[in-house]
Amino acid sequence: MSESEFPVLYIICPCYNEEPVLPDSSEKLKNKLLFLKGAEKISAASKILFVDDGSKDKTWQIIQNLHENAPEVFSGISLAHNAGQQNALLAGLLAVKDRCDIAVTLDVDLQDDIEAIDMMVDKYSSESCSIVYGCRNDRASDTFFKRFTAESFYRFMNFMGVKLVFNHAEFRLMDRRALKALADFKEVNLFLRGLVPMIGLKQDCVYYERKKRLAGETKYSLSSLLNLAWQAVTSMSVMPIRSIMWIGVGMALLSVMMFIYALVSRINGIAISGWTSLMISIWFIGGLNLFSIGIIGEYIGKIYLEVKHRPRFIIDKYLDINVK
Ligand code: UDP
Ligand code: MG
Repeated sequence: MSESEFPVLYIICPCYNEEPVLPDSSEKLKNKLLFLKGAEKISAASKILFVDDGSKDKTWQIIQNLHENAPEVFSGISLAHNAGQQNALLAGLLAVKDRCDIAVTLDVDLQDDIEAIDMMVDKYSSESCSIVYGCRNDRASDTFFKRFTAESFYRFMNFMGVKLVFNHAEFRLMDRRALKALADFKEVNLFLRGLVPMIGLKQDCVYYERKKRLAGETKYSLSSLLNLAWQAVTSMSVMPIRSIMWIGVGMALLSVMMFIYALVSRINGIAISGWTSLMISIWFIGGLNLFSIGIIGEYIGKIYLEVKHRPRFIIDKYLDINVK
């Protein structure tokens, strides 16, 4: 917490086997931090926090060395095992929530433009934004496949009723109020990009151009990307379970039409004996089954939302009440 008038900033970077990028990116991040301190945009107590996500290479050793040589700039936490980027980010955010005014998360490979941090801090300081999203202004540095799948994903999530900020990943600023609110979301299946917009409070975007990795290789294979997308759908939306009921309703309606069709065929003498009752039963029982599963699904969906223990509201402002 700042005693000066400038906010204490923590820059949080999750690191998984990032030995090749850390020397370069730590230098760049340090220069950025020193510049922001020098420009009196942030407090002198501001720091960079590396979260080692159970790396198998020398990542943690490098972080330790950085901390020993410049403890006023670098700090770190090490997770006991590889918990994934989402959990590493949350671990970092929760670790700093009581000692900073603002936290910026970004990937350690510096694909996100660190120059945009200045704009984020300005949005916090001069426009009182609690959350500032870093959004890519284009996807020119991506392959066609990645661009297509990423953009389809945003549209699909929108269709699923999940509010996502278009072309925004994990590069964002959150102030202490937003961090405290995030800490109230107790769910285990994390999808931060979906959760953070749920917090509300004053939010805005800054735009930047995403670059290539400084060094090393992406930690996201196609299967881990698909996993993340599946996690996003199933942890944010009850739409898939609800759709079963709608399919059931559709089948029940179809069964009425089949009933009429089978009956007309029978009256006209086209149907062989036994066919009519069989057809009607198949469609009717099929529809009834799906509809019943859908109703059970609806309750399971409710239980699922209940067990997440999400906050039901987040208070933005108080007037005339001495509660904070
Ligand atoms: N990362 C992590 N844990 C993991 C996978 C990735 O902490 O299990 C970190 C990684 O070190 C990097 C960030 O998450 O800082 C994004 O990973 P990456 O750059 O490989 O993903 P991409 O940019 O290719 O989507
Ligand atoms: Mg990357």
